Amino acid sequence: AHELRTPLSNLRGYLEAIKDDVLKPDTATINSLYEEATLLTRLVDDLQELALADASELKLNRQTEDISGVIRQAMVSFQSQMIDRGISLIADLPDRLPLCNIDSQRIAQVLHNLINNAVTHTPRDGNITISAKESGNYVEVAVTDTGEGIPAEELPNIFERFYRVDKSRSRRTGGTGLGLTIAKRLVEAHGGKIIVQSEPGKGSRFTFTVPISSD
Ligand code: ADP
Repeated sequence: AHELRTPLSNLRGYLEAIKDDVLKPDTATINSLYEEATLLTRLVDDLQELALADASELKLNRQTEDISGVIRQAMVSFQSQMIDRGISLIADLPDRLPLCNIDSQRIAQVLHNLINNAVTHTPRDGNITISAKESGNYVEVAVTDTGEGIPAEELPNIFERFYRVDKSRSRRTGGTGLGLTIAKRLVEAHGGKIIVQSEPGKGSRFTFTVPISSD
C-alpha cells in the first residue's frame, strides 16, 4: 500500500494544484503526471504477478524449448537500447544446448528483468554478456555486466520485494523494486535457483538454472 500511495499522492498533488490554479498544466507537468501513471501501472502489473506467485497460482505453461532461442530473442529486444546507451551486448552460447522444460514467456521475463537491471547499472562503453551452459540436469544462464556492482552487505537483500540499494534512484530509473523478486519466484516455480555475485566497481553476475527436459 505504501508503494502505491506515493505515486498516487504525487498524482493527486499535481491534479489538485492544477484544479486550484496553482499550477499551469504545461508540458512538463503533463509529462510528470504521465510518468507517475506509468509507474503505477507497472507496480500494479508486478504486484499482480507476485500475488499469483505467493498464492502458488502461477500457472506455468511448460514445454520442451530451446533456451538459446529465448535468450537470443530477449537480446534482440534490447538491441536498440544498447546502441543508444553505448553498451555492448554479447552472447556467449555453446553451439548446442539441451532442450529445457520451461514456460518460455516466463523465462523471457526473467531475462528481461535481469538484462534491464544490467543496462540500468552499466555505464557507457560497458559490456553485458549472456552466457549459458549445461550443468547436471540443468542449463545455467548468466547475465554478467561490467557496471557499478553491489556492495557485499546489500547482496542478501536485493531479491526482497521493494528493496533498492540506492533508494533515491528509484524514481529516476523507473524501477518498481520488484524485478528481482519476480525473477526469483519465476525461476523457483520452474524448480531452478537464482544467485548473484558482485563486486563494487567491477560488475555483477546473476545466474539462474532451468531444468533440462527429460523427454
Ligand atoms: P528495481 O526496480 O529497483 O530495479 P530490482 O528488484 O530489479 O528492482 O532490483 C533491486 C535492486 O538491486 C536495484 O534497485 C539495484 O539497487 C540492485 N541491482 C539489481 N541488478 C543490479 C545490477 N545488475 N547492478 C547493480 N545493481 C543491481
